[in-house]
Amino acid sequence: MLLATDLDGTFLAGDPDHRLRLYQLIAAHPEIQLVFVTGRGLESVLPLLSDPTIPEPDYIICDVGCTVVHGGSQQAIQPLQGKIDELWPGEQLVEAALTSFEGLQRQEVPQERRVSYFCDSAAASDGLRAHVETLSCDVLFSGGKYLDILPRGVNKGSTLSRLVEHLGADPESVLVAGDTLNDLSMYQQSFKGVCVGSSEGGLLEATEHQARVFHADANGCGGILEAFEHFGFLGHAGIDAEIPDTMRSGKSDLVIVYHRLPYEEVVENGELIRRRPRSPNGIIPTLLSFFAGGKAGSWVAWSIDDPDLGPFQTHTEVDTGRYEKLVAARVPLSAEDVDIFYKRFSKEAFWPTLHTFWERATFRDDHWQVFLKVNKLFAERTAEEAAENAVVWIHDYNLWMVPAFLRELRPDVTIAFFHHTYFPSADVFNVLPWRREIIGSLLQCDHIGFHIPRQAENFVDVARGVTPLEVTAKAGCAPRFLTYGCAVGLDEMSVEITVNDRKIGLGAHPVGLDLSRVRNALADDDVKARMESLREELTDIRLILSVERLDFTKGILEKLHAYERMLTENPELETKVTLMMVCVPAAKGMTIYEELLSQIEQTVGRINGQFAQVGWTPVQFFFRALPFEELVAYYTMADVMWITPLRDGLNLVAKEYIATQGLTKGCGVLVLSEFAGAAAELRGAILANPHHPQDLADTCYYALAMSPGEARNRLSEAFEAVCRYDIEYWGQEFIDAVEQRRISKLKKVVPLGQSAA
Ligand code: UDP
Repeated sequence: MLLATDLDGTFLAGDPDHRLRLYQLIAAHPEIQLVFVTGRGLESVLPLLSDPTIPEPDYIICDVGCTVVHGGSQQAIQPLQGKIDELWPGEQLVEAALTSFEGLQRQEVPQERRVSYFCDSAAASDGLRAHVETLSCDVLFSGGKYLDILPRGVNKGSTLSRLVEHLGADPESVLVAGDTLNDLSMYQQSFKGVCVGSSEGGLLEATEHQARVFHADANGCGGILEAFEHFGFLGHAGIDAEIPDTMRSGKSDLVIVYHRLPYEEVVENGELIRRRPRSPNGIIPTLLSFFAGGKAGSWVAWSIDDPDLGPFQTHTEVDTGRYEKLVAARVPLSAEDVDIFYKRFSKEAFWPTLHTFWERATFRDDHWQVFLKVNKLFAERTAEEAAENAVVWIHDYNLWMVPAFLRELRPDVTIAFFHHTYFPSADVFNVLPWRREIIGSLLQCDHIGFHIPRQAENFVDVARGVTPLEVTAKAGCAPRFLTYGCAVGLDEMSVEITVNDRKIGLGAHPVGLDLSRVRNALADDDVKARMESLREELTDIRLILSVERLDFTKGILEKLHAYERMLTENPELETKVTLMMVCVPAAKGMTIYEELLSQIEQTVGRINGQFAQVGWTPVQFFFRALPFEELVAYYTMADVMWITPLRDGLNLVAKEYIATQGLTKGCGVLVLSEFAGAAAELRGAILANPHHPQDLADTCYYALAMSPGEARNRLSEAFEAVCRYDIEYWGQEFIDAVEQRRISKLKKVVPLGQSAA
C-alpha cells in the first residue's frame, strides 16, 4: 500500500501510544510506501528526517504540492518537479502584485514555488482572488488564517496523483490522510481517504458524502490506524503483528552501555581468561559502585566472538561478591567489525572531527554502515536487559547511534548519555556527513552530560542547526567553572532544551579523580624508592614533565618547538632544566600516528643534538606507557607539569599531578592548555595557548621562575577543586540529574482511565 499523509495534525499528531503503534507498523512493513504530503517547506521537513522515531518517507510532497522529492536523497523527482517549476511565475512577481492588498502578513517560514501569508477571511477577498487569477496562480485559504498563492492547478492532490501515476502504483492501494482544508484536494482524486479525528469542519463537510472517505474518531495516528482496519489494509495479522523480543522488558534497573567490559579479557593458551583492568582510571570502579547493595543491573559491552574459543557466552558474572545482581551482557562482534568500528572508523572519522581537526578525518560510508550495525546490536541487547522504566547510561561517541535504535524499541526507559570527548561547535561538527542522524539520535536522550559548559553549549549550537529547539532552562557557570578566563570558558549554559515537546536535560559534569588511588601509590614502597632515586638523579636540575598519549590533539610537536625556543631565548637554563616527555603509544594497528611519531623523534633528536652537554640531556623521551604508580613518582618530582593539548575533552593527567602535589605538600606548577576541558575547572593553573609558540615558551619559563609561595597558593586552589569534585562526585551528580528526569517522566505517564491531577 501507499500511505500519503499530511504531517501536522495528522501523522505527527495523536495519542503517543497510537503514534508509536503506527510508526512501528510502518517500520515492520517495508512494503508500505510512505509519502509525506505537507504544507511545510522542505527545510521544515528535514528535522523530522533526523528524528529516528519517525519512519523515513519514501517520497515527500511539500510546499502544499509545489515541491516533490525523494525521501532519502531529497532530490527532485523529475519530470514532475520540472512541470511544476514551469507553471510558477516567481516569488518576486507574486509579492509585487499583492503589495496593494491590505491585511496580508508574509509567513516567515521556508517556502518555495509558492508565497504564503497569514490573513483573515476578509482579506482573502474576491478582489484578491481575481487578481491572483491574472498571475496564472491559485489561491488556497485554510484554517481561517493560512493563505497560499500556488502555481495554477498545483496542490497536494494533483501532485500526489502525478506521483502515483509516475510510480505506476495501483490507485486502489493508496490511502490519503489529512485534517484540514489544505488536504481537501487529496480526497478529490478518487483515492481512499481518512479524515482523522478533530479535522477542520470545512474538510468534514466537503467530504461528508464521499463513500471512499472515512471519518475517524481518534486524532492523528489513531485515526490512520482506524482507517487501516476500516479499509482492510494489511489485514488483521499485519496490524496485530507480534511484538519483537527486543521490545519486551528485562530485569535491570540500571544498564551501563560502555564500549569496554568492566574486566579485561585475554586469551592465554587458547583459553579466554578474565582479569581486573590493569590501569583503571576510576571511571569503571565508580560506575560499578552503583550496583552495590544488590541493585539489579547489566553492563553491556562488546566482546570478540571467536569460534575457536567455543560457544559465545552472552551473559557473564562481574563480581558476585560485591555486585550480587550485576551481569555483563556481552555483544558478540567479529574481529573485523571491532577493527572497523572501534580502531578505524571512530578514530579516523569521529575523533579528529570532534577535536576540531576535521581536515584529518576520512569518511567512509561502508564504515558508517558497520558503525550502525554495531550500535544497533548494542541497542538491541540493552533493550533486552532493561527493566520497565529503567535508567540506561550510554558512554561516548562510539555509541552515538544507540539512543536512536533504543528509543524505538523501548520508549519507557530513561536514556542518559555521557560524552567523554570534546564536543565542537557547529562549524566543525557539521563537517560530519551523518550529523543529522547523530544529533537526531542524541536528541532521544533524557539527559546528556559533557565535561564542561562549553561542550554542552556547542551541542546546543549543533542541534539548533538540525531541528527547531527551545532553550527552556539556563544556568550560570561561575563559580565552579571559568567564564571569560580561558578559551573554553563560558558564563552561562543551557541546562534544558525542548524539542518536539520532549525535554532534554544538559549538564556539565567533569570527570574527577579517585584520590585514594594516588594515595595508595604514594604509600607504595616501590614508588617511595623510585622517588628517592629520582631525587638523586635530579639534584640541581629542574624537572619539566609532560605525559600524554601519542596523538595529534596533544600538541606534542608544538611543545617541543616551544621548549627549543625557551632554551634559545634563555641560555641560563642550559644544564639546569630537563624535559621528561612520556608518550604513550597508540593501540596496535593505528597507523595514522606513525608519521607524527617520526616527526617527534626527529625534533627530540635535533634539540638534544643542538643543546646537549656532557652529563645533561635537554629532552628525555620515553615512548611507552608507565604504570600509574611510576607516573605518580614522577608527578611528585616534577617542578613544572607541562600539559598543552591543542584540544582535549578534559585531561586527567593535569588533575593527577595536582592531586599528587597537593597530597605531598609540594609546590609544583601546572602549566595547562586553555583548550583542555580541565582548564575551565582548575583555577590556579597557569593557562597557555598552545597555538601561540611564544606564549607556550613564556608560560613555561614563568612557571620555572615562580616563587614557591605563589606556587603553593596556586596549587592549593586547584587541589581544592580536585578534592571536592572527585570521581564519586561526578558519578553521583550525573545519576542524580538522570533520576530527576526519570521522575518527571514517570509523573507524565498517567495510567489509562485516570485523569492527570
Ligand atoms: N597514563 C598511564 N601511564 C602513562 C601515561 C598515562 O597510566 O604512561 C594514564 C594517566 O594516569 C591518565 C590517563 O592515562 O589517567 C590519561 O588520561 P587523560 O585524560 O590525561 O588523556 P586521554 O588519554 O584520555 O586523552
